[in-house]
Amino acid sequence: MLSKKGMGVSPSPTMLIDAKAKEMISQGLDVIGFGAGEPDFDTPSHIQEAAIKAINEGHTRYTPAAGTLELKQAICRKLKTDNALEYDPSQIVVSNGAKHSLFNSLAALLNPGDEVLIPAPYWVSYPELVKLNDGIPVIVKASKDNNLKVTAGDLKNALSAKTKALLLNSPSNPTGQVYSKDELKAICDVCCEHNIYVVSDEIYEKLLYDEAIHYSIASFNEKIKELTIVVNGVSKSYAMTGWRIGYTASTAEIAKVMAAIQSHTASNPNSIAQKATLAALDESQKCVGEMLVAFDERRKYMCERIKNIPGLDALTPRGTFYLFVDLSGVIGKSFQGKTLEGCDDFAGQLLESRKVAIVPGSGFGAPNYVRLSFATSMDNIIKGLDRLEAFVNDLQ
Ligand code: PMP
Ligand code: GLU
Repeated sequence: MLSKKGMGVSPSPTMLIDAKAKEMISQGLDVIGFGAGEPDFDTPSHIQEAAIKAINEGHTRYTPAAGTLELKQAICRKLKTDNALEYDPSQIVVSNGAKHSLFNSLAALLNPGDEVLIPAPYWVSYPELVKLNDGIPVIVKASKDNNLKVTAGDLKNALSAKTKALLLNSPSNPTGQVYSKDELKAICDVCCEHNIYVVSDEIYEKLLYDEAIHYSIASFNEKIKELTIVVNGVSKSYAMTGWRIGYTASTAEIAKVMAAIQSHTASNPNSIAQKATLAALDESQKCVGEMLVAFDERRKYMCERIKNIPGLDALTPRGTFYLFVDLSGVIGKSFQGKTLEGCDDFAGQLLESRKVAIVPGSGFGAPNYVRLSFATSMDNIIKGLDRLEAFVNDLQ
């Protein structure tokens, strides 16, 4: 028998949908993909050039397991400037993407049976990452009345003697919502009072709209800083999903455990990508702003159109590049004689009949929702929404 733990993990639905859409496109089908959680832009040229230079200069060997000192120093500068957080390079671990950083964080924190609070809707990988590390995911449902964000009270009600950590994600994938300073402060108080570690996934911190401001929970006081592992990376902000660089900032004690684990499981993150990341963090940030302008234009268009389709509703995203669409008004209707029982039916029929790929909310712990990414061109968005609208209008 194969590993029970391994077999208990389901494949990432976001990656599956994206792969399916790409496969259909390669077969010549005219599919519009709203699945991908990755910027459609190329990595900015100065970052690409830094990587080419790294190859030409021979930076092609193993680096220290937790990353090069120069990159860890750059990450410390970034955390100070952007997040008002002071760390020493010994507190930084650079990994193969933020997903790997999350894995390392949970591997360092959890003992078998430890419970991890996961606000729902959650990013698809959180419960699986907890289970892979012998923890127990405890799902804390957020209400629509609170814009799908959990409150400190919700978390308090979910605490048990086994609660070890909270997995926090703001700006949130899939909801696009951003926790305010006051909301985070209240959550911080609960964690400090009960000694709950916080794994704070801040990968979308630079993708903010309107007047939204990102705060790192670790910045509120010394106690919460000790309890928090800040997870971040360059995949989303710098269009570097394929480069695979993420990082953590934590106490030196936790960082040491993570570095030891990584030294046996991955050696070091890619040496060339580390040089590219150095350029991304240290050089001009103009590219981030330019991508943000494009995302914002698409966000506004998409939101407006979805809200005007009878039966659909969406929260206006304040961050990320996702629109989370409430299907409550159309679930139970039928398409070509078949009843749509939930979001999986909706997404399945939409892909089959209209060739539009979206991610069902079931993988995010929100069965009445679907997620649409606006990290795709305006042309695709217009065409895809025309098809979605026609599909919804055909429901009976
Ligand atoms: N956290 C969230 C919330 C994400 O959406 C993603 C996207 N893959 C990640 C972490 C992982 O990022 P990376 O590609 O750097 O592993
Ligand atoms: N994080 C992205 C998403 O949610 C990329 C795919 C993945 O890693 O799950 O779509």
